[in-house]
Amino acid sequence: MRALVFDGELRVGDAVPVPVPGDAEAMIRVRMAGICGTDLEIVRGYKGFNGILGHEFVGEVVAAPTQTLKGRRVAGEINVGCGACERCRAGARTHCGRRAVLGILNRAGAFAELVTLPAENLHVLPDTVEDRRAVFVEPLAAAFEMLEQVEVHPGVSVAVLGDGRLGNLCAQVMKLAGAAVTVIGHHDRKLALLRRLNITTAMPQESRAAPYDVVVEATGSSSGLDAALSRVRPRGTLILKSTYAGAAPVDLSPAVVNEVTIVGSRCGPFERAITALACRDVDVEPMIDAVYPLELGLEAMKHAASPGAMKVLLRMEP
Ligand SMILES: [Zn+2]
Ligand SMILES: [Zn+2]
Repeated sequence: MRALVFDGELRVGDAVPVPVPGDAEAMIRVRMAGICGTDLEIVRGYKGFNGILGHEFVGEVVAAPTQTLKGRRVAGEINVGCGACERCRAGARTHCGRRAVLGILNRAGAFAELVTLPAENLHVLPDTVEDRRAVFVEPLAAAFEMLEQVEVHPGVSVAVLGDGRLGNLCAQVMKLAGAAVTVIGHHDRKLALLRRLNITTAMPQESRAAPYDVVVEATGSSSGLDAALSRVRPRGTLILKSTYAGAAPVDLSPAVVNEVTIVGSRCGPFERAITALACRDVDVEPMIDAVYPLELGLEAMKHAASPGAMKVLLRMEP
């Protein structure tokens, strides 16, 4: 099959072996997939992953252990736990010590014609969530994870650092929870997308001095950490959303002095994301810059990595 592979170099292969579904796994024909910051970081060395990239997708189930899934259009949770350890049995497979992660860790990803996942990872999509919006289920679920971890009351002041794909989704989710959200970013075009949703935006130099109850670090760069910490009020919360290759040099003493709660935040609840997309509580379409066929995967990755880019999608059917 055709797939976008990273094995030290990025290439589109035409004869990549089709993954073999394990017990309780489904085979999915991928319809569309989204390029995410993590994919770009993997190409820079994050996680040392080699194989088919891609973890944000929508597809159609072609084979499944249960008949109810066959032919259904689905999105898929990306963590595959061992199923046997204490954390898996407690329902926390995203934290299984032996987990594989679709297109990120020990598991072939979704920038391919076919992908496999355990049936229990799949979520059937309503027809009202079209393919181009459905690829946002996974990153939007990750944004909703913040609300599972931190109580956000109406009126809480939230600063989101970063106006890219992740920052945009985090800001929309915080606004949905009733927070007074300000997104701080560098790109006027990206900030304008947020202003159209009635979200306050600021350039770093013009943002207010008063600290925020909650700060979300979504810049995708390690240099954002010091700035993030400096914007949290005493006893406030810093939520870390970016993953990147390499270590972050950061002075943590302000976190100690101000007794800041630091929350790492990763994958989240799919059903909440699907409902938000179905109800159009979250607006993702304006973020889509381009849709490339899989055979132009290299151009698509290049486009996604360019400074002004928001979301670039891959479509698998020619
Ligand atoms: Zn992602
Ligand atoms: Zn496990």
